[in-house]
Amino acid sequence: MSNFPPLDRLTPEYIRNFEPYIPSKPDEELKRLYGCERLFRLNNNENPLGPPPAARRVIREFPPPRASVYPSGDAYYLRLKLAEKFDMHPDQFLVGNGANEVISFAIKAFCEAGDNIVTADKTFAVYEWVATFSGFGAHLVPLADFGFDAEGMLRAMDDRTKILFVCNPNNPTGSIWKRGMLRGFLDRVAGSRIVVVDEAYAEFVEDPEFQNAMDLIPEYPNLVVFRTFSKMYALAGLRIGYLAGAMEVVDVIRRTCVVYSVNVLAQLAALAAIEECAEHIERTRELVRKGKSFLVREIGALGLEYVSGEGNFVMLKLPMNDGLAYRKLMTRGVMIRSMTGFRFPNWIRVTVSTDEAMECFIEALTEALGERG
Ligand SMILES: *Cc1c(COP(=O)(O)O)cnc(C)c1O
Repeated sequence: MSNFPPLDRLTPEYIRNFEPYIPSKPDEELKRLYGCERLFRLNNNENPLGPPPAARRVIREFPPPRASVYPSGDAYYLRLKLAEKFDMHPDQFLVGNGANEVISFAIKAFCEAGDNIVTADKTFAVYEWVATFSGFGAHLVPLADFGFDAEGMLRAMDDRTKILFVCNPNNPTGSIWKRGMLRGFLDRVAGSRIVVVDEAYAEFVEDPEFQNAMDLIPEYPNLVVFRTFSKMYALAGLRIGYLAGAMEVVDVIRRTCVVYSVNVLAQLAALAAIEECAEHIERTRELVRKGKSFLVREIGALGLEYVSGEGNFVMLKLPMNDGLAYRKLMTRGVMIRSMTGFRFPNWIRVTVSTDEAMECFIEALTEALGERG
């Protein structure tokens, strides 16, 4: 043990103080642990319909020898397809190993020691996590009525703020930035900082007032938009997402990206998914509409408070600790997201899924609420 590294001296304080995220165990382990025969995963907002047919075909027919060859280092054909879809230049896109990876690209590209980012206190946590474990500040602005507080974010900016992160629709509250609101915010920032709009759930939005940030890129060169293939396109297991922005800004961010982080099968499946997705998107939206109205009705009947906005998830408040609720629901074969980690103690978030999963969730919840203690 004499050569054990002096971790205290080698590890920066912001790493020592950082609580690592603990991922859930594989289904088989969990089923054994909680003694349930089947498990509905309603914790990650996955699409129960699976990938669109064209992407399935690509996955099924993938030639094994291609696994021995490095993928395109810049997702060449996928960027061409994205450029065509959004009427932009291919160099305005940067593809990563999930949108999670592009969050880290953006923060690395613009922040240095002493800098900070601004975002909401109750939103997708990865912006805050990446900033924190990289040694940067994270100014967290409280939500106002379950939505982002644009004024509060502007007030939270200081001269070391490099990036403002907006999640639209917001995970976990489903709140959206409507037409005038996002423009007004961008006008006030006036190009002085990078504004990231994370649109992981954009394809689910039903509200016609929703402001799609992709459309604003030509007008606001400080705007960077994130999208993912994990949610609507159901390719979460292959890990692929991207960012889009003005060419000059993307040129800067590209310097921080690790080449070959996006595997060949993910690139092929994503390309196929966007080439042929209209029917898939319609079916998914139909499923979410139906599942959400069932959930909201049943949750209301149980007398619980809930927040149901855009996106394929609903949040609800329980008369018990959310960690305890997690365990109670797990023994009944339902995994939800406990929300203390999102700073919503006693709340849980549940993914809108199939009729069977939704019925099972409500049954499990009813039982869990009925139990003493
Ligand atoms: C799921 C999610 C992501 C991450 O997506 P990946 O592409 O799977 O890394 C990003 N942002 C939000 C708001 C999400 O909910």
